[in-house]
Amino acid sequence: MTVLRARVLTPRSPDEVLWLDDAVIRINPGGSIEGVEPYAGQAVDLHLSTGVLTPGFVDSHVHYPQTRIVGAASGPLLQWLNHSTFPEEQRFADLEHAREVARVFVSALAAAGTTLAMAYGPVYPHATDALFAEVERRGLRVIGGPVLMDENCPPELQIPAGPALASLEKLADRWHGCDGRIFVAAIPRFALCCSASLMAGAARLARERGWWVSTHLSENLEEGRIARELFSAADYLQVYEDAGLVHRRSVLAHAIHLSDGEWDRIQAAGAVIAHCPDSNFFLGSGRFHASAAMARGVPIALGTDIAAGRSFRIPRAASSAYDSALARGTTLTPSQLFWWATRGGASALGHGNLGAVEPGFEGDLVWHDLPAWVDDPVGALAWILFDADAPRPRRVWVRGRVVWDRGQNTGYPWETPAS
Ligand SMILES: [Zn+2]
Repeated sequence: MTVLRARVLTPRSPDEVLWLDDAVIRINPGGSIEGVEPYAGQAVDLHLSTGVLTPGFVDSHVHYPQTRIVGAASGPLLQWLNHSTFPEEQRFADLEHAREVARVFVSALAAAGTTLAMAYGPVYPHATDALFAEVERRGLRVIGGPVLMDENCPPELQIPAGPALASLEKLADRWHGCDGRIFVAAIPRFALCCSASLMAGAARLARERGWWVSTHLSENLEEGRIARELFSAADYLQVYEDAGLVHRRSVLAHAIHLSDGEWDRIQAAGAVIAHCPDSNFFLGSGRFHASAAMARGVPIALGTDIAAGRSFRIPRAASSAYDSALARGTTLTPSQLFWWATRGGASALGHGNLGAVEPGFEGDLVWHDLPAWVDDPVGALAWILFDADAPRPRRVWVRGRVVWDRGQNTGYPWETPAS
């Protein structure tokens, strides 16, 4: 049993957070939180006498092979893919390169306080294997897979449906469900780079094997026009519906330019939206219609969308989500953003046991600094979510095990020596 004493900020609902000024958190040897109670002189292993403890963050959409091209300002989307992304992703044909970047990527997630991520790999299965091995070693959680592409991209990045799906099954045989922390997803990258048979095959396999599926939906107007033309579809969503990719275990990234009818069908299907506002700003893709999704109760999780997004930190995505919604006339509350960043995001990704500092939840925790003058939940949310000068987390745990310690990792994660 590990016993921590700390100030706690944890989400109760999209409208409510719980603030505990001086609490004792008991984490059992399996890594679950057994008790959270007021401090009353109990013996503790560790007294976090400053700052505040929150649950770990959830990143619902991040590209591991784009770790080295954050800030590549070559948008909008289709130009950015051709100029910056596809050349970089080709480098992952080299396994050593994949391993090296996986180390930095996992460090960057942990240093950002992200404990669960849905991560897209490059097309090469060996590169996602390297990512899973690093996640396994470092103790984080991931749902991921190689992107699937068989059309309209550099030939080096195309893998036909047969071999691509066969190697995805092999990857899943090795990793799916590993330690309850690693899960495989089928990820047809987006309609422009996928044949109908690849998307349908991926959807079928995911259904049979109980995997998540994920893809990009309607990020950019030009992309949407091409998708409709290529597949003679009435709208973009129909392309994925026809392939069997829109359901309760689908994570659709961006979902910016959608009609009311498409929103109604997403709601009916129970699909999840990965909202990546900083990426949307950086590539000039447009502004997500938060109120359309929220009015229908569509589950939303936040995504950094590295490298179109410019920070691994989910609080930065939350801050951008606030700006993006406000620009469309919707004022989001800090508690709503905190919910998406933690418990709501985890639940949307099928992890109902993550995202709260409460008994029964997993011990995935982030210890944040707080300025001395902050002593209430309003001030703490303002600092954690919106103050871009707030430092990185001091310490991050998954299942009660330290996965990041700012004191032990001097400077930035890319300076962390491999160990
Ligand atoms: Zn993306």
